Amino acid sequence: MKEKLYTIPINDAVNQNDECPFCFIERKLEHDALDFVLGSAYMEPDFRDITDEHGFCKNHYKEMFQYGNALGNALMLKTYYLKLNKELDKQLKSYSPAKLSFKQKLKSSKETVSSPLTDWIKAKDCDCYICSYINEYYEQYMNTFLYLLKNDNEFFEKIKNSKGFCLHHFGSLTEHAEVKLNDKEKEKYMPVLFDVMKKNMQRMFDDISWFVDKFDYRNKDADWKTSKDAVQRGMQKLVGSYIADEPYKKNQ
Ligand SMILES: [Zn+2]
Ligand SMILES: [Zn+2]
Repeated sequence: MKEKLYTIPINDAVNQNDECPFCFIERKLEHDALDFVLGSAYMEPDFRDITDEHGFCKNHYKEMFQYGNALGNALMLKTYYLKLNKELDKQLKSYSPAKLSFKQKLKSSKETVSSPLTDWIKAKDCDCYICSYINEYYEQYMNTFLYLLKNDNEFFEKIKNSKGFCLHHFGSLTEHAEVKLNDKEKEKYMPVLFDVMKKNMQRMFDDISWFVDKFDYRNKDADWKTSKDAVQRGMQKLVGSYIADEPYKKNQ
């Protein structure tokens, strides 16, 4: 099948023959987002209106800090605080204590009670411009992946012989496949995806086992085989993140 602009990143990711093509895609999106936000966008007032609205999550603040544009970060924080402090003021002014039930009033109760104030803070906690940037593109790539699986035989074969997916993205793939594939397609593709997943989770286990066995003095001189980086790959294969990555920095 002829490569189209939107299929290139998917093929690129699959061709890495990595533990999971979606981990690769997500990392690329994250780096693109950091380059965009801290490259030049932060200087545009219109763009800062958007980041003032969303803010960033814990993970992405950390990555933004490590990226290396202190002034860019400070400018975004400055206008964000300006808006946030006004909102906080409003929230604090309108706060009134929650009416607790008898059970909630008991000292032994482990229940916590939310209020408009805590709801507002929780919403701030999980809102993030970079997360929504990634999610938007991720959805498109996931749909393209399923499209290629159905329409591109060469792609289908590649997936069959790939290293599969991490558990995190396998969950997401299955979720999307439920909606995007009809019953007949599910009958055809799900067993193949399950088989790839099973085979490669076993491979991962074998790699980790050999890593452990290598510490036995009797295996001191034995070959590492494919186990040398089994720990980071074994962790990635579960949670969908490149554990051993160095922080992504400006001009990388
Ligand atoms: Zn993954
Ligand atoms: Zn985020």
